Amino acid sequence: MSLRAIALFILFGCATIARGETALSVTQIAPGNYAHRGHDDVATPENGGDIANVGFVVGTRCVAVIDTGGTLAEGRALRAAIRAVTALPVCYVINTHMHPDHIFGNAAFRDDHPQFVGSVTLAQAEASRADNYMRALNRELGNAAAGSEIVPPTMTINGAGTLDLGGRTLTLRTWKTAHTNNDLTVYDEKSGTLWTGDLLFVRCIPVVDGSVVGWLDDIARIRQMNPRHVVPGHGPLDPPWPQSLDAEQRYLADLARDVRAAIKRGETIRQAVDSIGLDEKDEWLLFDMYHRRNVTAAYAELEWEQ
Ligand SMILES: [Zn+2]
Repeated sequence: MSLRAIALFILFGCATIARGETALSVTQIAPGNYAHRGHDDVATPENGGDIANVGFVVGTRCVAVIDTGGTLAEGRALRAAIRAVTALPVCYVINTHMHPDHIFGNAAFRDDHPQFVGSVTLAQAEASRADNYMRALNRELGNAAAGSEIVPPTMTINGAGTLDLGGRTLTLRTWKTAHTNNDLTVYDEKSGTLWTGDLLFVRCIPVVDGSVVGWLDDIARIRQMNPRHVVPGHGPLDPPWPQSLDAEQRYLADLARDVRAAIKRGETIRQAVDSIGLDEKDEWLLFDMYHRRNVTAAYAELEWEQ
């Protein structure tokens, strides 16, 4: 450890300990891009809702947070991790979409007075599910959920936008309804790092809460971005590219194909759920939790197709 590193450790280490906050573990996957790997699981009291990949990007002027985790406590731990890396202010807190495991840490950054950034459709989506999300969070996490709340965006993106962190520009982009109707990606031009949010699931089964058709369209465009580094919403950081995208695309394409065929044969939704894609079970974590829901969602979407 260099003298400077020791000095920093004493400075930030003590400050962290004094406030009783444990810093979230983060990995610098590319220069200035720090990511935390969430647990491959649903939210439980044991993992404290820390199930999504979250992180931050550091410029010469300020810091942008990308997703804040599943609880206020996780958001605070992420903030402590930022303080262990830099004293620069947090100027942006970006939410890649509405899901609880990505947004409930937002309140930890309120005193930093950042812009809270999200898709133009994020606020409405959060508002429509707020009561359900709060109830589920308290039921699933108990005391670990204390103080968690929804902090809606103060700055919205519709199509594309850029954020200047000083010497580092982030390009934000919104997408056709896919994982949800408010998906947003973040691309760090300087390092070629793409933060996909839940438009990319690796190893953990993709969850359709928007449109399987839209998602397949988005994947074709994401493929063209050809990033050098990738932070998926769930699963290993910086996975092989494009193989990780290939696996997700194959699952969703097979899902759409098989559901269309079932509808064409006149099967009921129940018959479709009981037969489609069950041989995928060993390919994905959390399969039992989400696969049947995906078939149900795809059926509801595709039965209205011409
Ligand atoms: Zn999600």
